[in-house]
Amino acid sequence: MRHFTFERARSIDDAVKSGALPEAAFLAGGTSLVDLMKLEVLTPLRVVDVTRLDLQKIEARTDGVLLGALATNTEVALHPEVRRRLPALAEALLSGASPQLRNAATVGGNLLQRTRCAYFRDLATACNKRLPRSGCDALEGWTRMHAILGTSDQCIAAHPSDMCVALAALEARVNVRGPRGEREIALADFHLLPEQHPDREFALLPGELVVSVFVPATAAAARSRYVKVRDRASYAFALVSCAAGLELSGGVIKEARVALGGVGTKPWRSIDAERALAGQRPDKDSFRKAAALLLAGAQPRRDNAFKVELAKRTVVRALSLAAEGA
Ligand code: SF4
Repeated sequence: MRHFTFERARSIDDAVKSGALPEAAFLAGGTSLVDLMKLEVLTPLRVVDVTRLDLQKIEARTDGVLLGALATNTEVALHPEVRRRLPALAEALLSGASPQLRNAATVGGNLLQRTRCAYFRDLATACNKRLPRSGCDALEGWTRMHAILGTSDQCIAAHPSDMCVALAALEARVNVRGPRGEREIALADFHLLPEQHPDREFALLPGELVVSVFVPATAAAARSRYVKVRDRASYAFALVSCAAGLELSGGVIKEARVALGGVGTKPWRSIDAERALAGQRPDKDSFRKAAALLLAGAQPRRDNAFKVELAKRTVVRALSLAAEGA
């Protein structure tokens, strides 16, 4: 591990000031950053510990739930208001990692989770995300876990988070504090497509710190589910996952929310698919049509072509469960 300076922020303002300095990184649960520093994939010169900041609260409001950036994955998943009003979020969190990791990992860290592309973590390979303009060995390599949506000729890494897929479907909003004050970023805009700059993953400016995430508690959110398909029953990243929520009225779908994980370079939501579901009966036929729209434009490679059909079936499953009720 390379040498770095370590400081513990005493206030959010302190953290923002230090985080805006060149090559600084915020440390929260450390479940991703510390691993990547040990591998020397990330080599910040300054580590700013934000764990003592007052950002742990989970607050139920009339219109939704506010999650402090330092609330742990376990605390969020087990919170009664999250389970009752945002079940897909609770299910997504409980499907990720292991109990020990969920006890340490935080909402803010989960949002900023880096890809699990094996080439990204291996310094002996070329990776545009790790080192801009160095190439991408995944393009001609082993791609079973890689993305089929939102890829570019520079990067095909899949977004790894379960939580973010649920947050995308539930239209969460991220509150950040930076040198220029506070602002809100829609979850849909928080993660960037790789395009020509896969090293830029987040819509954050230097020094901006995630302070909370607001998740609206809608009728569709209360009737939401998360389905994750993976190689083993626990402690595995998604091959495909889907968060789906439905608001039903008079036997038809009034509002639908659906997002995919494991297949996109960011949490993959399709407004077209959601619009296509509105006004339809909640049956397999309409779910299959929505699944086809979600997968429109998929660009599979040799090892991950199976994800197209698997994703469609996962969408149908998640929507069917949502229709049955949370
Ligand atoms: Fe790096 Fe992306 Fe290529 Fe993986 S897919 S090696 S993260 S550039």
